[in-house]
Amino acid sequence: MVLAELGGKLRSSLHRLQGGRGDDAITTETLDAVLRDIGEALAESDVRAELVTDLKDNIRRKVGDAVSENTASSNANLARQVQRAVVDELTSMLTPSGEGSAKPYVMRRGRPNVILFVGLQGAGKTTSIAKFAHHYLRRGWKTAMVCADTFRAGAFDQLKQNATKLRVPFYGSYTEADPVSIAEEGVDRFVQDGYEVIIVDTSGRHRQEEGLFEEMQEISAAVNPSNTIFVMDATQGQAVYDQARAFHSAVNVGSVIVTKLDGHARGGGAISAVAATGSPIVFLGSGERFEDLEAFNAQSFVSKLLGFGDMRGFMEEIKSLNSGKDREEMMKNMAKGQFTLRDLYKQFQSVSKMGPLDRVMGMMPGMPEHLIPKGGDDERSKQLRKFLVIMDSMSDKELDGKIDLQKKNDPATEKRIRRIAAGSGCHPMEVRALLQQHKQMESMVSKMGKSGMMGGGNAKQR
Ligand code: GDP
Repeated sequence: MVLAELGGKLRSSLHRLQGGRGDDAITTETLDAVLRDIGEALAESDVRAELVTDLKDNIRRKVGDAVSENTASSNANLARQVQRAVVDELTSMLTPSGEGSAKPYVMRRGRPNVILFVGLQGAGKTTSIAKFAHHYLRRGWKTAMVCADTFRAGAFDQLKQNATKLRVPFYGSYTEADPVSIAEEGVDRFVQDGYEVIIVDTSGRHRQEEGLFEEMQEISAAVNPSNTIFVMDATQGQAVYDQARAFHSAVNVGSVIVTKLDGHARGGGAISAVAATGSPIVFLGSGERFEDLEAFNAQSFVSKLLGFGDMRGFMEEIKSLNSGKDREEMMKNMAKGQFTLRDLYKQFQSVSKMGPLDRVMGMMPGMPEHLIPKGGDDERSKQLRKFLVIMDSMSDKELDGKIDLQKKNDPATEKRIRRIAAGSGCHPMEVRALLQQHKQMESMVSKMGKSGMMGGGNAKQR
């Protein structure tokens, strides 16, 4: 998962609220310790000190009084309240503030959406373009690419290579030196041909310089993009703030893709810094594969970071890729906090179509990182298939939760588990592992259903 280290630290700070012994009341000292841990974790992730201070002050303002008046009997309630405040404040830290952008990120079906990509060299612009194209292709959008980077030798070849792998048409030139006319001609052609996503790659430079900004402005004036996406590299942490502001004022950057969030400790700093400039982050890049692009939504991101799973993201993903009655039914149940083995079966079925499995499984509520099968996607799909086969051997009543398979020391339940194992050619331990996993997810869905954490937000179609 993106930012695994930060997530782990935030999760363990919230664990303090559970308390070692149930009869210990949550006190002001507990809250101080939680806030100290959260502050340290964010600082290590290179989040700007002022943002961290604001976050801690806001949380204290929201729950400080309740904590100082607390008695052990209201611990559970208070723990939820503090947790909620932490989630809300982290979410608001990652939500764009300030002036915002002139053109919000909206994609319209059946119309040409011209998307101009800008960024410094090495930020991951070309890679992100391929991922972006892949994202829309998988959702059935008619997509094409234009290479208006005439500055870097090899830029056209790199784009061409990706376009060929993705089987999307591309436009560019080895001889024409004027990026503005290439952009204009390429976009015109694809608009005429009815393309819905027309991606324009522009030159990156080693650093911000006048020439680059002028060129971006000219291209932007020539193709009149529906959106300009600024690609930036998370490894720079909070330093991206100045860069994002400079690009924002030069070309009216509408949205941002933050790349290289995989395995980089400074990602939290980069994301919060972008949010502070007022530009919305639309996607995160988390690897070098075409699939390693995640739509960004602050609420889902925080929920996932804190180990609550990304129920909303998961549902959005299911919604964008599947349709049908089953899905509606499952989503309704989950919103009510219900989650049967049959729901798990349907989730696994959808997941196996969604790929890449590590990313999608990481979104599933209650799916702890260590339960996501290791190894490549092959290994994971094998595991998923096995789970599906086990559930195929269950009766309707078992799948629908009308018979409890979790009863301990119950000979009838043991017999059922042995029957399911025999029917699916597995060891009873594997059946129990699946039941255990279902139990964890069920309790997470139930908690989230009650807390209302699954709904809300302002998700747009991406
Ligand atoms: P450009 O100069 O901005 O077009 O940058 P490229 O797209 O050529 O990317 C520069 C390097 O960063 C390449 O080696 C990419 O494979 C790598 N890269 C891009 N995005 C990501 C990402 O999200 N994660 C990782 N780990 N590497 C990335």
